[in-house]
Amino acid sequence: SSGSEENDVVVIGGGPGGYVAAIKAAQLGLKTTCIEKRGTLGGTCLNVGCIPSKALLHSSHMYHEAKTSFAKHGVTFDNVKVDLAEMMGQKDKAVSTLTKGIEGLFKKNKVTYLKGHGKFISPSQVSVDTVDGGTAVVNGKNIIIATGSDVKGLPGITIDEKRIVSSTGALALTEIPKRLIVIGAGYIGLEMGSVWARLGSEVTVVEFAPDIVPTMDGEIRKQFQRSLEKQKMKFMLKTKVVAVDTSSDVIKLTIEPSAGGDQSVLEADIVLVSAGRSPFTSGLGLENIGVETDKIGRIPVDSRFSTNVKGVFAIGDVIPGPMLAHKAEEDGIACVEFIAGKEGHVDYDKVPGVVYTHPEVASVGKTEEQVKELGIAYTVGKFPMLGNSRAKSIDDAEGMVKIIAEKETDKVLGVHIMCSNAGELIHEASLALTYEASSEDIARTCHAHPTLSEAVKEAAMAAYDKPIHI
Ligand code: FAD
Repeated sequence: SSGSEENDVVVIGGGPGGYVAAIKAAQLGLKTTCIEKRGTLGGTCLNVGCIPSKALLHSSHMYHEAKTSFAKHGVTFDNVKVDLAEMMGQKDKAVSTLTKGIEGLFKKNKVTYLKGHGKFISPSQVSVDTVDGGTAVVNGKNIIIATGSDVKGLPGITIDEKRIVSSTGALALTEIPKRLIVIGAGYIGLEMGSVWARLGSEVTVVEFAPDIVPTMDGEIRKQFQRSLEKQKMKFMLKTKVVAVDTSSDVIKLTIEPSAGGDQSVLEADIVLVSAGRSPFTSGLGLENIGVETDKIGRIPVDSRFSTNVKGVFAIGDVIPGPMLAHKAEEDGIACVEFIAGKEGHVDYDKVPGVVYTHPEVASVGKTEEQVKELGIAYTVGKFPMLGNSRAKSIDDAEGMVKIIAEKETDKVLGVHIMCSNAGELIHEASLALTYEASSEDIARTCHAHPTLSEAVKEAAMAAYDKPIHI
């Protein structure tokens, strides 16, 4: 093992933050070891997050399209059925191919991979209980904590991953539930709710707050909720779950208005608890070296990702900021660049967010509500997908593009897109924000025809002047 030899960098956790940091460190010529307890690389994202959820979203979308839309396109067949075991098998294959792929990248870049649970003994020493039952001590001049996050439970509700599931259980159900109740209308709850709604479950989403996905631009959010309602998802907003009774075959949820009031009972076969995620540092021995955490368990870091203990850094879901895989990766690269004596930078105002439902919702930069609150004078350019020829030609024209620009300078402040493939379309907006482009810059950039991306160009035209096709 990497035992007593000294590493330049030791990374604890092999998720998108940790594995990317390890590869980048090795690429910069630093001797690097990555410790991961799961037995596979890729962390939450590859094993029980981004990747398996996108696999199931795609498979369930194919089924749903086959059932509801193919006939319109002249493609007919007698009987469409779901083979859930096969569908789950395809998802599992996607996960294992990708996690093994990262092992390959570690070999290629000469990152030492140690499978086991790491715990600090000192700021430069980690003891590891290896998955094969041994122990090792790993030394590092710099240690990066990339231990990620875990499911946040709700008081009084025990997640058994069978009937009361977290996202992890919801990605591995063996039967299609007749009634699924989702607690929490964040993006994970909506994505998993969509999967099972498409496969035939009656899905009800119970949310404490007055809105679904609170970070979303309000106008887009309203359209998005209507779209999900058309897909037969039900929403009970401003509602809290006060008790869950699993003593009989049918799960009974007692709910009441968030502000208090009359209680009622909902019945479900499966309940998905998706009320957020918590930073994960349990068993890491932070107390042994005095690394501080905040009220909700996150590790505060300075602008160079250093914790309060010299030589100990932290990145990804375990530090403040959006809990997203690409943000964790950016953290990892910048942190390692600092360690290598270079400059690193992550702009947290320009991290795109995507909900991978159908249509997808993607955004980057500020919402209209945020711009208003900041008192910035602004213009808005909107373009409905109904005016986009590609969307019309494939009969998939739900949604819109909305661009918010500063009135005085025309600088793009925020872009919000709801349409199929919005998660791909958003990156020209990210680039625009990063390079402080104006809406006119986007509008004068030649976009290929016919593409969905033309809707971004037209929304930009609408922001500084007038669109052509609406
Ligand atoms: P993690 O991925 O959580 O990795 C941390 C790793 O550290 C884990 O593998 C853990 O086993 C290991 N570890 C912890 N403690 C120790 C220890 N002491 N010793 C050794 N190893 C340890 N994000 C997106 O950007 N896009 C999406 O589409 C998306 N979809 C998601 C869907 C779901 C259902 C979920 C749950 C999450 C999703 N996310 C998505 C969020 C994304 O998964 C996280 O933001 C991302 O994984 C964070 O990366 P990380 O490296 O900080 O931590």
